[in-house]
Amino acid sequence: MIIIDGKKTSEQIQEEIAAEVVKIKAAGGKVPHLAAVLVGNDGGSETYVASKVKTCERIGFGSSLFRFPDSVTEADLLQKIDELNNDPIVDGFIIQLPLPKHISDQKVIERISPKKDVDGFHPVNIGRMALNLPTYISATPFGILKLLERYAIETTGKHCVVIGRSNIVGSPMSILMARNGYPGNCTVTLTHSKTRNLKELCLQADIIIAALGKPGFLTADMVKDGAVVIDVGITRIKSETTKSGWKLLGDVDYEAVAPKCSYITPVPGGVGPMTIASLLLNTLKASRREVYGG
Ligand code: NAP
Repeated sequence: MIIIDGKKTSEQIQEEIAAEVVKIKAAGGKVPHLAAVLVGNDGGSETYVASKVKTCERIGFGSSLFRFPDSVTEADLLQKIDELNNDPIVDGFIIQLPLPKHISDQKVIERISPKKDVDGFHPVNIGRMALNLPTYISATPFGILKLLERYAIETTGKHCVVIGRSNIVGSPMSILMARNGYPGNCTVTLTHSKTRNLKELCLQADIIIAALGKPGFLTADMVKDGAVVIDVGITRIKSETTKSGWKLLGDVDYEAVAPKCSYITPVPGGVGPMTIASLLLNTLKASRREVYGG
């Protein structure tokens, strides 16, 4: 059994991107620039955005952070998006979600130019993904693809069961694993809370991607020997044994499932750390105009 090390893989990708930036600078090219917009002062979102900006600086990207109070109007936020869409310095930008209730997440997402949508949430980019056209794939699915690729995990002809059909994880994952390419070429079963025979389906799976948000849900009796298990779940619970007072739990009963697997991602340290690497890869792609040209 091989434990897929997302932390190490993410760090490797970041080093590779940093080396690219050195080359770009040496050739007198434009340094990739990621902008982030943060609304309100939710602690979690703030930490998230701060760490993204810090990583940008560390690998040599340009970055800017725009903060708005909770009370910002939708019109003002949309105006900022228009500015960023037209700012030649900014190659890509992200709006930290969720937004306050009086602002429509969907309206905001759709205002971002697909060319600069490095989070890959714009319907145009999701449509392009479904059509297997060049696009920005959103961070979590992209991170999973990169892990499969970096560990050279065979996917062609395999049966992949995805548990969960959310717009940000399960649904795109099912499309990506079924598409013609690598990683891909799987026969995919997309399951959800109304699926009746989940255990039987999982027992037929060569690859299981668990993304439902129920700690320890995937148990050993649902997994066949030699399966690849990707655990996307993150549930934060209080803990007396950790320094922070919190503990992260995945959707897989790791201790019991791991010995049966050929590959497995741990929680924490599996899929989670790949998010930042995905965002940086998308920003590099944006600065190179790889998706839309021009
Ligand atoms: P979500 O929007 O809550 O969706 C959960 C999905 O799981 C739904 O499609 C739901 O089915 C399905 N589901 C719930 N109970 C089920 C059951 N008993 N059997 C089969 N399917 C079931 O969750 P999400 O945003 O996709 O996130 C899923 C987990 O991944 C969460 O723990 C989240 O924190 C984590 N996550 C991690 C990362 C990362 O970077 N590692 C990124 C994003 C999310 P219905 O559609 O029928 O309700």
